[in-house]
Amino acid sequence: MTSFSRSARRLVAAASLAALSACGTTYELPETGGSYSDEAARLFAEARSSGPVTPLSRSAAEARYARVQPRVLSAGRETCRQLNTGVNCNVSMSIDREMSERNAYFTYQNGQPVIKISLPLIQDTASDDEVAFVLAHEYGHLIGRHVEKQQQQVLAGALIGGALGGLLGDSSDAVALGMGVGTTAGGIVYSQSYELESDTIGTRIAHAAGYDPVEGAKFFARAEAERGGQGGYSIWGTHPPDRKRVATVLATKAQIEAEQGLRGTQ
Ligand SMILES: [Zn+2]
Repeated sequence: MTSFSRSARRLVAAASLAALSACGTTYELPETGGSYSDEAARLFAEARSSGPVTPLSRSAAEARYARVQPRVLSAGRETCRQLNTGVNCNVSMSIDREMSERNAYFTYQNGQPVIKISLPLIQDTASDDEVAFVLAHEYGHLIGRHVEKQQQQVLAGALIGGALGGLLGDSSDAVALGMGVGTTAGGIVYSQSYELESDTIGTRIAHAAGYDPVEGAKFFARAEAERGGQGGYSIWGTHPPDRKRVATVLATKAQIEAEQGLRGTQ
């Protein structure tokens, strides 16, 4: 093999990896610059400087969940059906009573879509809007097909990583790179574009359920250190607080008010 063809092959392999790492969303993400970005910075700073939330009692948290869940479930199913994505919209939602961390996640159990939220997370919310936004955000992962897409990317990455390893003579690093999309206890770590897509879809679901998505997003803007309780993995391991998320919620709310629906990327 000449050195030219070896480097050409490396280039092709590197290009394939680059293409895989571009995680395409199903729906267009809103533009978040200008006034949305300024307002998000203000809201984010306000949420971060607010004092710790006094945790709800378990019975008050149960009551909050019982109020919010049916409305979000109904709005989520309706949004999912209207978008006609072909996914199974019939998600089941429940409290994960085994989980002591503050967490919420979307997954498939026996092939059925499931959204789970822990009681400690609900106890840590400051409003019904926050529980609604967390549940609606998780519904966004279903509608965005993020589990399926991420699994395909991991698999393709492992295959190409293995092939690349063969070419470069160092399979361990390349395979590790391909398999590097991690999972944590209680949730998959999604790419930032998938999280923003879930925020966009979740904003629409929370609004359709009669909640204020901007109030709800404050849950994700508050710093974990300002919260009570101890825990290992929590929702902040998979959902880093990020001003761009708040800006996405603000921009999506403006789209709703302008009666602009979700637009597909293709
Ligand atoms: Zn998420």
